[in-house]
This record gives sequence, structure tokens and C-alpha cells, in this order.
Amino acid sequence: MGFALEECNRVFALHVRCVNCIRESVKEIFGGQGGPSDVDELIESGLIEQVRFECVHCESAIGQLVAITCESDC
Ligand SMILES: [Zn+2]
Repeated sequence: MGFALEECNRVFALHVRCVNCIRESVKEIFGGQGGPSDVDELIESGLIEQVRFECVHCESAIGQLVAITCESDC
């Protein structure tokens, strides 16, 4: 509600499991000002679909989203 909250930068971590090597990668999304403030809003915003997954272990482009966690800088 207040000024402090508006200054808060949300960081979302997408946990994606590679379908090829079954290892998990974490991809961070920065909500930023006016961006989604929680996981539900992040899903509704469609930002996730814009994230391009590439496995850091085997470079496969196919991953399965297993979890989303929300962290904030403040
Ligand atoms: Zn992989």
C-alpha cells in the first residue's frame, strides 16, 4: 500500500526441469515497478510464456515448469 512497497522489486524464480536430462534449472524473472506482485499475477501476466528455456546442463529447449517461488529485495 505505501511507498515502501512500491519501491520493492520482486524477483520470481522459475524452477524448470529439463525433459531431456531431468535436471532442474532456475530462471529468474524480475517483476520490477508496476509488474506482478505475486505468483498468481505473474502467471496471469503471461510473462512466463515469454521466457525462453534452455537447459544449462544439456542445452535442451524443452522444460517442464515445476515450481515458482517469489523473492523480494526488500
Ligand atoms: Zn537438460
